[in-house]
Amino acid sequence: MKKNKILIIHTGGTIGMVRTENGYAPRRGALISELRQIRDLTSPDMPEWDFVEFDPLLDSTNIRYEQWNMIADTIAANYDAYDGFVVLHGTDTLAYSASALSFMLEGLNKPVVFTGAQIPLCELRSDGRDNIITSMMIADDGLVREVSLYFGGSLLRGNRAIKYSADRMVAFTSPNWPVLADAGISIEYSEAAHSGSNDRSCSSGPSVAEMKSCRIGVIKIVPGIQFDIFAPIRFEELDGLILESFGKGNIPKYDPALTRLITEASKSGTVVVVCTQCPAGAISLGTYEAGSALVRAGAVSGGNMTTEAAITKLNYLFSKGLARDEICRLMQTDLRGELTV
Ligand code: ASP
Repeated sequence: MKKNKILIIHTGGTIGMVRTENGYAPRRGALISELRQIRDLTSPDMPEWDFVEFDPLLDSTNIRYEQWNMIADTIAANYDAYDGFVVLHGTDTLAYSASALSFMLEGLNKPVVFTGAQIPLCELRSDGRDNIITSMMIADDGLVREVSLYFGGSLLRGNRAIKYSADRMVAFTSPNWPVLADAGISIEYSEAAHSGSNDRSCSSGPSVAEMKSCRIGVIKIVPGIQFDIFAPIRFEELDGLILESFGKGNIPKYDPALTRLITEASKSGTVVVVCTQCPAGAISLGTYEAGSALVRAGAVSGGNMTTEAAITKLNYLFSKGLARDEICRLMQTDLRGELTV
């Protein structure tokens, strides 16, 4: 029987890093020689695979919209030749990139699995070995044809994931959406894996919505926050602003400077989105008096989207050149399974 073919796209990150005198850093060529030593990857039960590596390889803290475009373009250019894609990426911004790609790959109908590692493959006890082997098997199974993230035994929806541990091997979680698959002794796909997340309108393969450089800021509300320090922001130069509020969308009442700020931002064309700073749960702006002021000032609810999803979705919508009102509407619409409406 003809085997599936998977393309491994290496962007950088700990998984392929080597020790240098300044600490771990990516080095081209290092990861492929590690992969060649993993016997499982040549097992008859594994799909065929090819490997491409970005130049330069990056610590993912440096990843921006240009690399998102490179990943998307690599997938689109190889879409017909492969049955699935495994993207190796640093863990620090992995959830942002997985989220960004979920929006950019319009009409995606093949698995794109992001993964990485907390310990480099060249070191003892590397978690990269299982992460890559299981990601390949998931891509080979072909059941989850969306952008997902596999790490530490769980397959998560890419635009629902957050990095929640800097140390643990189970580094990601998806507080507002069930895991898509659990990789114990066998890989068990859940119901959530079958509820479509993608716009599969285009059967000929994905068209890439390129990301552009957008100006998006995040303000986290903290007790005693003094909003006048944000007054110098030039809102006409700011595309989007995420407000990470307390709880269900609550903000302090003592300082009218915040509502002034949002009113001014909205009038200048900035899209202000309220996300909760709680890892789980949803914004409901009408629930408390403290939240309805935000709506009156022109902010929109981010519902139960992660901040990662809200930022990348804003970047995607602004890159498409849509009008502010349309962006506000789409921020409250579920596009790729990132939001429970
Ligand atoms: N700083 C690294 C990166 O994100 C961390 C990692 O990969 O775990 O590229």
